[in-house]
Amino acid sequence: MKKRLLAGLCALAMTLGLTGCMRTQEHSTTIFAMDTVMTLSVYGPDQDALKNVLSTFTELIYQFQNGLSATREGSLIDKINTARGHFTLIGTQDAEMWEDALALCERTGGALDITAYPAVKAWGFHNDEYRVVPEEERGELVKKIDYTQVKLSEELNGKPAVTVPEGMEVDLGAVAKGYLGDRLRENIAHNQEHWPVTSALLDLGQSTIVAVGARPDGSPWRIGIQDPAGQDYLGVLELTDQSMGSSGNYQRYFEEDGVRYGHIIDPHTAAPADSGLAGVTVVADSALLCDGLSTALFVMGLEEGAAYWEEYRDFEAIFIEENGNITITPGLKEDFSLQPGEDREVRVLE
Ligand code: AMP
Ligand code: MG
Repeated sequence: MKKRLLAGLCALAMTLGLTGCMRTQEHSTTIFAMDTVMTLSVYGPDQDALKNVLSTFTELIYQFQNGLSATREGSLIDKINTARGHFTLIGTQDAEMWEDALALCERTGGALDITAYPAVKAWGFHNDEYRVVPEEERGELVKKIDYTQVKLSEELNGKPAVTVPEGMEVDLGAVAKGYLGDRLRENIAHNQEHWPVTSALLDLGQSTIVAVGARPDGSPWRIGIQDPAGQDYLGVLELTDQSMGSSGNYQRYFEEDGVRYGHIIDPHTAAPADSGLAGVTVVADSALLCDGLSTALFVMGLEEGAAYWEEYRDFEAIFIEENGNITITPGLKEDFSLQPGEDREVRVLE
């Protein structure tokens, strides 16, 4: 009771802009979910509240994973993919995710396409049994990739439902972590009264990071950007109250006859994207936008990706080419810096 009162007083003090009520506490947890290691760190005045936040988040993440894994038998995605053209019921909140994901497919001109899954499977990226898919087979696979065939409807007793034509399959792997990141950020914002969290760094694994506020000392969060060509960090990106998404052919790939085949599929060829990029990082408010766009920009390549940024200008990006060249958008000029000892030039778009 005493603790709750204290937390309440601190929340009030924070609302009134008073500081120094109590030392900022930290609580962190590391879990393995959605095929990756996630590290969640939250900061606030009350250690018990922080523990509650992270146990709630952990449960939420496992639930989310169980529903959205394309490879897990009985998951929502598995049900949709095996429904042979029939509608499958989805939750009301899930409907929002499907709408957002489809809108992103459209916004990227189909570079992001949540129906790329038959090609993902043909190349063996779903179970690590890799093979190079022959051209003729790819021609057939391309016909099965078309996000406009995914239908969202309220047909089943007024409840939202999804269907894909028989033979086609969906996979939300390119956007799920981003969507989850946005939900966790919202959860923090909506529960300030019960669980005051002054700042947080939610690292949802290789592809999505959500920074809530700044570090407890007021400085930006510092995120290492991996060099696609090696194990080291290439540089550091500073984030304050923003999200970040990275995609690349260094995250999951196989090599055959000296050629690297990465896990991001070009929907136009049903083959691993071969755009000359090795990695893309996107920074924006929405983690979903970051996640979806990093995958899409990787497919587009530098030239098309830069033109896309020029058209929208609602995100920032770091493009790393296979030859090691780095190009950034102007909004990251102050926030991205190379590691000491890195002497590459960083080109800034205008
Ligand atoms: P990400 O790591 O966010 O770039 O997402 C890559 C994952 O999304 C892959 O492992 C596939 O499961 C799936 N995927 C591959 N290519 C595409 C694509 N062009 N559009 C949508 N999803 C894709
Ligand atoms: Mg993505």
